[in-house]
Amino acid sequence: MKKHELVIIGCGPAGMMAAIYAKRANKDVVILDKSTPGGRIRSTYQVDNYLGFGRVTAEELVQKMVTHLHDLEIDDTYGFVKRIDKHEEGFIVTTDNDEYQAQAVIIATGTNPKTLNVKNESRYVGNGLSYCAVCDGIFFENKDVAVIGGGDSALEESNYLSRICQSVTLIHDLSDFTANSGLIKRIRNNPKIFVLTDTKVKGFLGSDAIEGIEVINLKTETNSIIPVHGVFIYVGNKPETGFINNDMAVTNEEGFIRVTPEMQTNIQGLFACGDVTKKDYRLIATAISDGAIAALGAIKYLDNCLKAR
Ligand SMILES: Cc1cc2nc3c(=O)[nH]c(=O)nc-3n(C[C@H](O)[C@H](O)[C@H](O)COP(=O)(O)OP(=O)(O)OC[C@H]3O[C@@H](n4cnc5c(N)ncnc54)[C@H](O)[C@@H]3O)c2cc1C
Repeated sequence: MKKHELVIIGCGPAGMMAAIYAKRANKDVVILDKSTPGGRIRSTYQVDNYLGFGRVTAEELVQKMVTHLHDLEIDDTYGFVKRIDKHEEGFIVTTDNDEYQAQAVIIATGTNPKTLNVKNESRYVGNGLSYCAVCDGIFFENKDVAVIGGGDSALEESNYLSRICQSVTLIHDLSDFTANSGLIKRIRNNPKIFVLTDTKVKGFLGSDAIEGIEVINLKTETNSIIPVHGVFIYVGNKPETGFINNDMAVTNEEGFIRVTPEMQTNIQGLFACGDVTKKDYRLIATAISDGAIAALGAIKYLDNCLKAR
């Protein structure tokens, strides 16, 4: 079993920011991630709203964050966290290949895309259906694709796909998009994007790979099939908290972690930050802010534990 003062779970912006604050306060910290450092910024192409960078590719932004982490010699280690348990000396964090004992833990595991839960959705994942345009868009070069959703991510990724694909049909089940007005304007002015509002997806069809989407127009109640080679789904996100034991009672009914303004959960020494917490705005800027606050709380907690000894 490996022992550390602080274990941070998740190497996205929130976890990285927390690790930087903890390391600079001379805490013995390790940051675990089941994937490549960077988190969900990696699933977009471009970021326009992060202070100090103007317009920057997600790849460059992530690279700069990871370099900052490595310049401070922070231990970022592979580890798919499967469970976390309260222990008399703090917590035991169990990954797929190791066990960690820590006095304090910060959970920064973010979110995963929600599924639509319609006919044949799971059947075509990887065969024309994707939840990440930046990862899979290139497989549909000069082909017709559809994006499903109406928020910032759906519209931003439609714009991205329009640079690669022949056409993008943007399907949304409401009359108005929920994305910001600047993005909506860009979409409306993009000649390669066709907008279908008030349209609900009923399922997907094709032989080995997707060939079409079955939809219904909610105003006219007419059914139709939209022929496409690729589909990208952006209908919201669910928290990555399956590894937390229900007995800990730190999550709300949707699975998001409840925290105080100091990013403290209802368990002493257990903090959470970023998209995995219950909050209104999930952005890089808010994740970074949460990460800094969680780390400052954890540092104070660890210092108090030392004084109490
Ligand atoms: C398509 C898209 C476009 C976006 N565009 C923008 C934008 O332009 N501007 C902006 O400000 N925000 C944008 N966002 C939102 C932004 O990416 C998130 O708000 C931010 O990444 C949240 O950071 P986080 O650290 O809380 O979580 P995440 O970035 O989700 O990182 C969580 C990390 O935890 C790891 N993890 C999860 N579970 C486990 C486990 N069990 N064990 C170990 N590791 C685990 C994951 O692998 C991941 O690396 C976008 C999001 C998406 C999906």
